[in-house]
Amino acid sequence: MMSADANIIEIFSSIQGEGKYVGCRQVFVRFAGCNATCKYCDTMTSRKSSVTKAQIEESPGSRRFMSVDNPIEPLQLLGYITNLYDHKHHSVSFTGGEPLCHSTALSLFLPMFRGIKYLETNGTLPDELEKVLPHIDIISMDIKLPSVAGKNYWEEHRNFLRIAKQREVFVKIVISGETNDAEFDTAIQLIAEIDNNIPVILQPVTPINSCKSVAPERVLFLHDKASVQLNDLRVIPQTHKYIGQM
Ligand code: SF4
Repeated sequence: MMSADANIIEIFSSIQGEGKYVGCRQVFVRFAGCNATCKYCDTMTSRKSSVTKAQIEESPGSRRFMSVDNPIEPLQLLGYITNLYDHKHHSVSFTGGEPLCHSTALSLFLPMFRGIKYLETNGTLPDELEKVLPHIDIISMDIKLPSVAGKNYWEEHRNFLRIAKQREVFVKIVISGETNDAEFDTAIQLIAEIDNNIPVILQPVTPINSCKSVAPERVLFLHDKASVQLNDLRVIPQTHKYIGQM
């Protein structure tokens, strides 16, 4: 898992559909493999720890892809990204799967790249975050609720957020029909104890697999509860799917 070369699913230009930077154009670098098994996962192919070929967009937005062999070494990765990253892009999003499963490859590659580096992470691998932290500009951290993650990550999330707070960070919590009050309260309390000014996005789940949608009244109820403790709270669904973006 911890190799100097990266196992990549795809690299492409698109619009960020989630979180605080929703609507920004980014180059997305989607890594293979994940340490979690969320019920609502919409990138199931990315959960495979390795794929033989990566799909690389030839020019930004062309949706023409070339197929290249994995794993990809840092200089080669730099070439693919800089070929797509131009003035119209806000940043490069390192996503997955879970990009921190590739912390060794990231720690070699990130210092070479001069643009804004945005990490989309499940927030469960604090030791791996520490290895790349100096080279990351913005962290989009998930808090995974046990009802959909299938296990409890509170300790990992607490340690992760304490480290992530040294950079720009916001937290995303996917809420679903399964979300219960106790786990939601625990998540909000965890964030508030670290810093109640950290922006928090409540993201109503896009129903998938066996994951049920959350009722509109329930969204407002959960927002009410969280707003007692948090100063920067927003409700934003996944938007890229409405506009047909990858
Ligand atoms: S952390 Fe992300 S990639 Fe991994 S299983 Fe959960 S939703 Fe899927």
